[in-house]
Amino acid sequence: MVATYYWHVRARDAAGNWSAYSAYYTFVIDLDSDGDKLPDAWEIYGYDADGDGIIDVNLPALGANPKHKDIFIEMDYMVKPGVGDLGPDATVINNIVAVFNAAPVTNPDGTTGIHIHLEKDDQVPYDADLNPVWTDFDAIKSSYFDPKRTATHHYMIWADGYGGDTSSGISRGINASDFIVSLGKWNNGAGGTNYEKLGTFIHELGHNLNLTHGGSDHENYKPNYLSVMNYAYQTWGLLRNGHWGDEGYPLNFDYQRINVVNLNEKNLNETTGLYGADDVSNYGVLYVYAGDLYYSNSSKNIDWNCNSNLETSVKADINGSGTYGTLVSQNNWQNISFNGGGVIGSGLSLSELQELIQANPPLIKELTWDEMKTLKRVNPTNK
Ligand SMILES: [Zn+2]
Repeated sequence: MVATYYWHVRARDAAGNWSAYSAYYTFVIDLDSDGDKLPDAWEIYGYDADGDGIIDVNLPALGANPKHKDIFIEMDYMVKPGVGDLGPDATVINNIVAVFNAAPVTNPDGTTGIHIHLEKDDQVPYDADLNPVWTDFDAIKSSYFDPKRTATHHYMIWADGYGGDTSSGISRGINASDFIVSLGKWNNGAGGTNYEKLGTFIHELGHNLNLTHGGSDHENYKPNYLSVMNYAYQTWGLLRNGHWGDEGYPLNFDYQRINVVNLNEKNLNETTGLYGADDVSNYGVLYVYAGDLYYSNSSKNIDWNCNSNLETSVKADINGSGTYGTLVSQNNWQNISFNGGGVIGSGLSLSELQELIQANPPLIKELTWDEMKTLKRVNPTNK
């Protein structure tokens, strides 16, 4: 909130003479009406990064709205020799925008959704392998990203690869403001498909927004974690209303938007499946059996142990972790954090912001092409 007052001030000097002056004083009250961590004053007037009174990042011109959640991302990209642009085309960009517009989060303007502002900016020098990843990333960032955007924008690079393997991407931490999508080694070096780009971008950004591979933990492939943060769904999306995301349903590249029951792998009821919390009737389920990913078109009747009988108490390692535990998930959209690890919307100086980014413990590993090649959606009737 910003309030401007006209103040008239009088003072008397030692000789007893009155002097008077008046001025406008503007008070910026640190409000963030929509909860996107960008203060209202920045979204209305723009952001002065260095305190010299000049607006450096004109957020309103970039589409910011103090009454609607906004996320700003600058995307740079490499062009791979013989392959081409590793970045997103307009279809991928529009689909990312659509997924965030469909977010089940409320806003003071009375509408739901998040406005994600994706700026495909500079082509950066081709590097087949960013290694060490954040050293090379920072070298590119320092040349192509205006540091005055540090507190307003996430920064990411569409790259070929990093760290010597085929990892699909990486976030600088949970949560954070830097990330990479690196699908260049996928599909035998041809790069990611549009759906792999869509899912991986939303997955890595999800880490920046506080989400993990298991909801409250990092355990992967949980059947009750209906999220693109789960590797089982990263590259082809959720099975919802009878369709996978990669069948032409980009909104199925979604974070979990409902509450789903916990599953005790020592005592699973195959006749109730994922029923028991929010309505899951329009979801299908992927679960692990004998090292493969099996799917069920129903989230109610699920043959966890693949013996062709629906039983009320079975023991099965349905996420392939090697242990039998209780699997919890998370309503992701209700747990989004917009602050980018304390960077986005921060009043810190540019040097303090840089220190904060460097101090964040990054993720170690992500889904690789080698692991992806082993993932199949198996029809249980064909086992
Ligand atoms: Zn991840």
